[in-house]
Amino acid sequence: MKLSVVVPCYNEEAVIGRFDATVRTVLDELAVTYELCYVDDGSSDGTLHRLRSIAQQHTTTTRYLSFSRNFGKESAMLAGLREAGGDAVIIMDADLQHPPELIEKMLDLYQLGHDQVVAKRSRDGDKPLRTTLSRLYYRAVNKWVDVELTDGVGDFRLLSRTAVDALTSLPECNRFSKGLFSWIGFDTVTFDYRNAAREAGESKWRFGALLNYGIDGMISFNCRPLRLAIHAGLSLAALATAYTLWIIGAAVVGGVTAPGYVTLVAIVVGLGGLQMVMLGLIGEYIGRIYYESKRRPHFLVKETNGTVPKETPTARSVIGKTH
Ligand code: UDP
Ligand code: MG
Repeated sequence: MKLSVVVPCYNEEAVIGRFDATVRTVLDELAVTYELCYVDDGSSDGTLHRLRSIAQQHTTTTRYLSFSRNFGKESAMLAGLREAGGDAVIIMDADLQHPPELIEKMLDLYQLGHDQVVAKRSRDGDKPLRTTLSRLYYRAVNKWVDVELTDGVGDFRLLSRTAVDALTSLPECNRFSKGLFSWIGFDTVTFDYRNAAREAGESKWRFGALLNYGIDGMISFNCRPLRLAIHAGLSLAALATAYTLWIIGAAVVGGVTAPGYVTLVAIVVGLGGLQMVMLGLIGEYIGRIYYESKRRPHFLVKETNGTVPKETPTARSVIGKTH
């Protein structure tokens, strides 16, 4: 069998050489033919330069491609999955946070017939605030979203050819991989591991980026948040009616006493805020429709030593096939 390892890299100059050497040492000891598929996500440092020299050194076992700009990790993973030719594909971060020693275990589980072998990281070593926020987030999101998202389960996983083909055939523009992995299903097995500290370079996730990623997760999979908005609106309308009746009742019984200025302002501001959130929510869905309707490619390749991976067929050709 042949194994492909897909590695998205964005400004990983400091660590990519060490990553390559470590992974090759591990892979050479295993009885598999392999290829490493590096995707340079428009890095502004010397990552591409490093990749070129790695590819020169190991011509047959290295594929790399480089984006014309930073398209994000989701696009980089997609490009890597399309480029990968193996019977099984492992997705790994370039910063050695995903321990290469686990590849053997993943392959063993794959041999048992699983289509997705998922490494679930423990959160020891993370900041307590981030851990708590993550826990709360996953609890909330699993109430809302149809697919199951698990805390600590990320992109570090092995996918069988069947699973890879399923993923690459999904044409959507807004890709939220954690959800897509879960959505495609197939026989999945999970095991725990301890996340290592980043070897060099720095994390690309700032708080704002994480927040946006979280919002993506909530609305990428269904319209349930819109339903929630309707429920909230209905409850508020019911409350307002009850309150009005109560005020009228009180006025009839005791006459008008308190002017109630503060209450009024609080209600107006509160409702205004809620309306803005709901408009934003609706706008977000419309924005997504807008992006999908443009059918732009997920990434543009500037340089590669392989073939440029094919884009997903357009909606029209897909429809053409099914009718
Ligand atoms: N990455 C990428 N494009 C981006 C951001 C990150 O390809 O726009 C890659 C990065 O090079 C690394 C992986 O995604 O291989 C995970 O990124 P990072 O280590 O910054 O995330 P963290 O481990 O902090 O969640
Ligand atoms: Mg990392």
